[in-house]
Formats: sequence, C-alpha cells, structure tokens
Amino acid sequence: MAKPPILHESDGSVSGVNNGAVNQSKFAGGGARGGGGHSAGESSSGQGGQPQRGGAGAVIPVYAAGSGAAAKNNNHRSTASVCIKVRSCGRRSMNQPKMANGSNCYCANVVINDPKLLHQKKAAIRLAGPSKFQVIADFDNTLTKFWVDGCRGQSSHALLQQENPEYNVKRDELFNYYHPIEYDPQIPVDEKTKLMEEWWGKTHGLLIEGGLTYDAIRNSVASAVIAFREGVVELFEFLEANIPVLIFSAGLADIIEEVLRQKLHRTFKNVKIVSNRMKFDQNGNLVSFTGKLIHSLNKNEHALDMAASLHDHLGEVDDHMIDSASVKKRTNVLLLGDHMGDLRMSDGLDYETRISVGFLNHNIENSLDSYRKGFDIVYLDDASMAGVVKLVSELFSPASD
Ligand SMILES: [Mg+2]
Repeated sequence: MAKPPILHESDGSVSGVNNGAVNQSKFAGGGARGGGGHSAGESSSGQGGQPQRGGAGAVIPVYAAGSGAAAKNNNHRSTASVCIKVRSCGRRSMNQPKMANGSNCYCANVVINDPKLLHQKKAAIRLAGPSKFQVIADFDNTLTKFWVDGCRGQSSHALLQQENPEYNVKRDELFNYYHPIEYDPQIPVDEKTKLMEEWWGKTHGLLIEGGLTYDAIRNSVASAVIAFREGVVELFEFLEANIPVLIFSAGLADIIEEVLRQKLHRTFKNVKIVSNRMKFDQNGNLVSFTGKLIHSLNKNEHALDMAASLHDHLGEVDDHMIDSASVKKRTNVLLLGDHMGDLRMSDGLDYETRISVGFLNHNIENSLDSYRKGFDIVYLDDASMAGVVKLVSELFSPASD
C-alpha cells in the first residue's frame, strides 16, 4: 500500500517517506524524574546528527542535542552546562509564514494520514460551534519544546532541584530503577501500574522528606532549560473567550503553573492544569499532595475527574467554563500530544468528534508510521504551534470556509 504523502507547509509540495520500524510504545510517560516527559524522549541513541534520507528522496532532518554523554545527562540540572550545541536553531526558510504577533515561526513538515476524514471532522466541529468544543493538551514536549536553543529541553518534573542535593540523588536512584520498568514490554500492565504508583509515591515522599519549598520550585524553573513552542500564547489567546484548555500531566501542577508564570508572564482564564498538586504550609514548605496520584499509566483515564477535584489553580480560571459537568458536555475535542499514549487523554470523555494532533519530535523514521495512524495530524521535527493556531482559526473564525 502506498504511503500517505508528507505535505510541506511552506510550499505545499508532496514527497514520500521510507518508514522504518514502528514504535509501539503505548503509554505517555512522565517518569517521576523523566527528562523529556517519557523514556522514549530520553534515549541517547537513535538520534544522529545528520539528516536522514527517505526512500523517495525526501530528507527528514534529525538532529542531535549533543554527545551521548550529554544526552545521558538530560535528567540532571547540569544539562544546560554540558549540552553541546551542534546545530543552529534558526532552521527557517525565506517563505515560511510569520506568527500572528509578527515573529518568525518554525514551520516543519506535517503529515495528514487521511485528509478527507480530517476535512469531515473539521466540518462537524465547525457546525457544532465553540460551545461544544474543548482542547485537551499534554504539557511536556507538547506545549513545550523538545529542543531549547540546541539543548534537550527539561520536563516539568526533571527540572526540579531540592535545596538538599542528597534528595535529588535519591530521586535519581528511583528513576534509574523504575524507568526501565516503565517501558519493559514483558511486564503486565496491571503489575506495571502498581510499580508506577510505587515510584511516584516514593518520589513524592522524598520531596516532602527533603523539605521542598516553593522557593526551590521558583528557582528551579528560573534556571531550567524549558520553553514553550512558538504559538502557544496565540493558541491560548484565541481560545480564551469561550473554549477551555485542560493541560494534563503526570508531573506536578505547581511546577507547570510556575513555568507558565515565568515563561509566558501572564495567565489565561480558560487554562486549567490537571496534574499532581502540592500543598504547602504557611512557611512555604511542602507538607502533602492533594487529590489522586496521577502517574504515567493512569493519567489519561482520570483526566476529567481530576479536573473536577482541583480547587487551586493558576490565576483567575473560569470555573464555570471548566467545571467537570461543563467539560463533559463539550463533546468535540482537539487533542494535543507528543506520545502515542497521549491519545488516551480523551478516554474519560464520550466524545463525538476528535481531531488529534501529534508532535513527533525525534526518532521520526521509526515512529512516523504509528503516529500517522494514531493522530489525524502529525507535526515533525519539534514544530511550532502555528499549524494548530491555524486549525482552530479555521474552525471558528467567521470568515473560514
Ligand atoms: Mg509529553
């Protein structure tokens, strides 16, 4: 069977791709100490520094963040200092469009497996209108970049540094033990789920025992290698009036909110974080976690229920727009993820129409086949959010066709 085309956003040209083995990783990880949101994103192998040439002459650029040693240190704060910049970050062509704010954007290749089906979904969502629509987004490597100034970006969990470094070492030790388990295909899911609960529980315990303070979170974010994709602000702004955005993560809500504060410098009333949430005492010391434990293997099924149970949130969230009952009535969904397992983020919703967008940031040749079968739209090579902004504007702008 012929492979579907790759459509180049910049010029509309079409080319074929020679795909390699399929990556069948099923779940979105976070790893309690994960560098890039899941273990697949942390491997130091399989990411050559040279462009990979496809069978039909298409060139898929695959870049390395640095040496293998540097990549192996992605889970550590030292990443910024050891990462070797081997490429320019300005991979832009003359004819690439600009963002709404006038800034340049990265325009990468986009793969649409079934354009006709996508067109039908867009028509259905447009017809139902914005009151039936919501966005569910993964955080790490979906809203945030995979590469940051040539360095591998840190996840919201990995960037955290406790004042007592002894506890950072202890969390690293847990990572080294449990991380291989998370992706061991020989371990049954039920058994693995218990082990993930064990891992997350121990990690959260170390954060409390080690005396984590909110100041440490603030300082960790300030020095972290993390950045949002270009276009995230435009996306949130476009949706802010009447469309909720649930950011769902197996990481830590308090850190994600601090990243939003420091990197975006503003809040959005339609954005709500659904993740593990900390409780601090009057002195800013972590004393407990609230709500259900969300780990890499259960984050999807609990998404909407967790959203209803959270009372602390970022800024002036419109609870009327985002409360659980309202969200469940919004049966048309735009799902954003960077991992095959992220497709399950909408499992808790009996949706009518879903458009799924996958960001395939690395290991493209091995994973593209599964991504294009799973997601309606796949953006390659750490793309910007410009295509998603364009999509929602086509769905709900009065002038759209
Ligand atoms: Mg992710």
